[in-house]
Amino acid sequence: MLAQRVLAASRSNDDGFLHPLATISDGNRFRRRYAVEMRPQILFPLFAPVTSLKGVGPKIAPLVAKLAGPRVRDLIFLAPQSVVQRPRSTVATGVEGEIQTFSVTILGHVAPPRGGQPWRIRTYDGTAFLTLTYFKGHGPHLERAHPVGSARVVSGRLERFGSELQIVHPDYLADPVKSGDVPEVEAIYPATAGLHARAVRRLVLEAVEIAPELAEWQDAAWLSRQGWPSWRAALAALHAPYSDDDCAILAPHRRRLAYDELLAHQLALGRRKLEQRCSPSRPIYRSPLADQVEAALPFSLTRAQGRVLSEIRADLSSGARMNRLVQGDVGAGKTVVAMLALVDAAAAGRQAALMAPTELLARQHFDTLTVPLMKAGVRLELLTGRDKGASRAAKLARLVQNEVSVVVGTHALFQDDVTFRDLALVVVDEQHRFGVSERARLLKKGVDVQMLAMSATPIPRTLELTMYGDLDVSRIDEKPPGRRAVITRAAPMPRIGEIVERLRQAVGQGQQAFWICPLVAESELTDLAAAESRAASLTEVLGGRVGLVHGQMPSATKDAVMADFVAGQLSVLVATTVVEVGVDVPAASIMVIEQAERFGLAQLHQLRGRVGRGARESSCVLLYDPPLSAVATHRLEVLRETDDGFLIAEKDLELRGGGDPLGLKQSGFPAYRVADAVAHRDLIAVAADDARLILNRDPTLSSPRGQALRVLQELFDWRAQSSLNDAG
Ligand code: ADP
Ligand code: MG
Repeated sequence: MLAQRVLAASRSNDDGFLHPLATISDGNRFRRRYAVEMRPQILFPLFAPVTSLKGVGPKIAPLVAKLAGPRVRDLIFLAPQSVVQRPRSTVATGVEGEIQTFSVTILGHVAPPRGGQPWRIRTYDGTAFLTLTYFKGHGPHLERAHPVGSARVVSGRLERFGSELQIVHPDYLADPVKSGDVPEVEAIYPATAGLHARAVRRLVLEAVEIAPELAEWQDAAWLSRQGWPSWRAALAALHAPYSDDDCAILAPHRRRLAYDELLAHQLALGRRKLEQRCSPSRPIYRSPLADQVEAALPFSLTRAQGRVLSEIRADLSSGARMNRLVQGDVGAGKTVVAMLALVDAAAAGRQAALMAPTELLARQHFDTLTVPLMKAGVRLELLTGRDKGASRAAKLARLVQNEVSVVVGTHALFQDDVTFRDLALVVVDEQHRFGVSERARLLKKGVDVQMLAMSATPIPRTLELTMYGDLDVSRIDEKPPGRRAVITRAAPMPRIGEIVERLRQAVGQGQQAFWICPLVAESELTDLAAAESRAASLTEVLGGRVGLVHGQMPSATKDAVMADFVAGQLSVLVATTVVEVGVDVPAASIMVIEQAERFGLAQLHQLRGRVGRGARESSCVLLYDPPLSAVATHRLEVLRETDDGFLIAEKDLELRGGGDPLGLKQSGFPAYRVADAVAHRDLIAVAADDARLILNRDPTLSSPRGQALRVLQELFDWRAQSSLNDAG
């Protein structure tokens, strides 16, 4: 049986991974070629497809795959959610209303006298009578399966019906000889349509049976300090809970398995980082030209900006390729820092690109850069999707000929026909708006391109280690001086009339406002309708000059409305999606957010960051549907009390439970199997430290512990893929 599974594993080549068994039969040619990627033999059974399990055929396999994954390994990490106790009892002493298990003898079957009535089975356990009741769809087959006189183990909720004790639709009615499998404590697994939780449990237990004991990869001292079991024992404990506490995310065996996963991930990220440090790049040095541009700015850099700029310059000049992420709150001043790096590249006689996710944003960056760069004699170009025909061709020609040193643009930049003479530096603004392959395509336009990514979504440190552990991260954690705090208040929906009235007065004085209607309902269409009717009612009250943008609009239309707002031709912009991150509308001084309680704190903070950029005092109104829960109240309070994006991100994490705290799954956050980025966040930092130590001491993972760690990595199968690029 095992041999069969192993063979099955070796044949399942579904991820393009060549298994060692295949190499043996195919000869040495392959063995040499794939030696580095060989999966340890001990893991073969776990990487066999789920069809290697009993009872998993072509019909069930897709359901299992949907629930857990396509391989046996995926099932062993599928955690039970709760337990059901099925204590043994006698019918006479049984507790009504509770789930219990009894050993009974079948006395007789009572077919329903009329349609619509249940099928009943009379039983007796030596202490009292018990009726098993089956509604609809159950009939004579019950009589065949459980003939009169046979002994059965029955489990379910004991109830009283008139004078009778009964169990309606028992969970188990089993022949104790054939399959006495009524567990006293039953772990409840997630189920899916067509695959019952109990069937899942059976498969999981079979998969766990197959899991081998593996050499310990954790540090012995750390394990004993934590009081954690071995991997195999932790796995067994995960699937043999005695109580709901054992199913808790913080149970010791669960934390051990989570730590394994986090360590595997941090090691993958750490190895990736080491590799990248090994790819060379011609150094770019700090230039007098950039100093000149900096000196000409109407302000001086904040300390944080200065620090981050030095970090970038240290990378650029190191001879190894830069892979750095700059995190900074909205308005922290990332653009100017990027600009000085761009000038350094241009001063070296090379080329640099700044990529933004929207036309409007690219245009804004271009406008910001134009004067300082022109003055310094750096030739600048804008390239977006709007460039067509001859003018586009001319721009492309100037790029190839190095007549342009800095190009600002959108997705248009990474198109195949865009070529550079010598692209040295790529800056990606709002990097999460681009896919990995999009960034990679731009990076491949030069031989040793250095990468600077920018993000305006501050995330807590622990999450930073998870999402960007393979990068160097800089934080601009200070805002330029003189910013006025945005006055933030919360108001219940019934007071919307007052809010609109105040808005009317403000608009009358020439102020501009954002009005956000979230897309949260089951159907986007209802939300959209809500936003449209809000725009209509505001138009009525304010007398025109209200624009609407939503996610389903073609981006050109959206850009046009946004541009009208930026130009001051619209007073109020109603938006369903998050207003284009990064867009600067200095005249906008009011932000109204409907159903604010539905947003994450970090999101609210981002939205609020759209205002308060000009000289005028700005305000943010959080409209909510009363009553607010205690947590929701607290969340809105946090927002009123602080303007520090990093602090808010930490609070957001604290105030939310487990699951997907910041909508991270959509933003490239790894989908952990066991680990929970919130509940196990204390372990993330430890795992990152641990991984660093391990790789310092044993970068090739060849010591005995290193070998065990390789098995761990394969077990979790992290393809060491970068969060920012997949180019070497
Ligand atoms: P973000 O980090 O959100 O991209 P920007 O780069 O758009 O922020 O900067 C926001 C505004 O702050 C811009 O108008 C910019 O000119 C200004 N700014 C940047 N740095 C400073 C500074 N050190 N002192 C004063 N104003 C600054
Ligand atoms: Mg910006």
